Amino acid sequence: MGTILVNDQFLDRENGSVDIEDRGYQFGDGVYEVVRVYGGNMFTAKEHLERLFESAEKIHLTLPFTYDELVARLEKLMEVNQLDTGIIYLQVTRGSSARQHHFPEQTKAVLTAYTKEVARPVADMTAGVKAIITDDVRWLRCDIKSLNLLGNLLAKQEAVSKGGFEAVLHRDGTVTEGSSSNVFIISGDTLYTHPATNLILNGITRREILKLCKEIGLSVAEQAFTLEALANADEVFMASTTAEVMPLVQLDETPVGNGKPGEWTQKLQAAFEEAVQKQCGSLAQTI
Ligand code: PMP
Repeated sequence: MGTILVNDQFLDRENGSVDIEDRGYQFGDGVYEVVRVYGGNMFTAKEHLERLFESAEKIHLTLPFTYDELVARLEKLMEVNQLDTGIIYLQVTRGSSARQHHFPEQTKAVLTAYTKEVARPVADMTAGVKAIITDDVRWLRCDIKSLNLLGNLLAKQEAVSKGGFEAVLHRDGTVTEGSSSNVFIISGDTLYTHPATNLILNGITRREILKLCKEIGLSVAEQAFTLEALANADEVFMASTTAEVMPLVQLDETPVGNGKPGEWTQKLQAAFEEAVQKQCGSLAQTI
């Protein structure tokens, strides 16, 4: 998609460049968001953009735009790129200065954003996918949506190298989240997911799902669960902006239940589609 946003400028992608001393480039010193777009409309934009401001505050980064200015720029970016179903990626770095670890006094934060067509992963959502289980070796501020993603990347790479879609992370046997998603189990009529502490990113999809559980009559326990509980769960799924409600039907080499997406998971998928339709209008592809 040809046009990108750099601060308040709309440029052809070929004309965008990164300064070699941008702190995002050198240190991962910045924050980001990914917003889903369905039928040309942003889904849960407010939640995503508020989380961007919160992440920025947690790293003492002052964003050089207001919330309303940001929304207007992203709306225009979608429009000029004629985005229908896809994502907006946006990030803000602390800007450029001579390399030093402590924050420079005089830098101007740099906002960049682009759009990309991304279809809903309907086939995977219908059949379910495999995940692997691995150690959560990340830092202790996973609540910040920071550009520093090496711990997540190592886990995802391990998953992909083993034919998996996602890595389920655990700290000393307690499941935290996925490498780029939140993780949920269902045992009986209760859904369990790690509470929104410093050890996970409080996903916007996660928040939406917790609301939908009430609608469909599934009890919610925001309680950490063990690898043993994961192995014994009736249903397991992950959730994220791009993957939505994604059934996990195999963990390492073991099938979950009968190896098919569970009934509660399918009900949540249907409720999620309804929520999207309500906010964004009709969906191009459905499960
Ligand atoms: N946890 C991590 C580590 C993630 O990277 C993501 C996706 N950005 C999520 C959870 C899910 O968050 P969201 O639903 O807001 O996409």
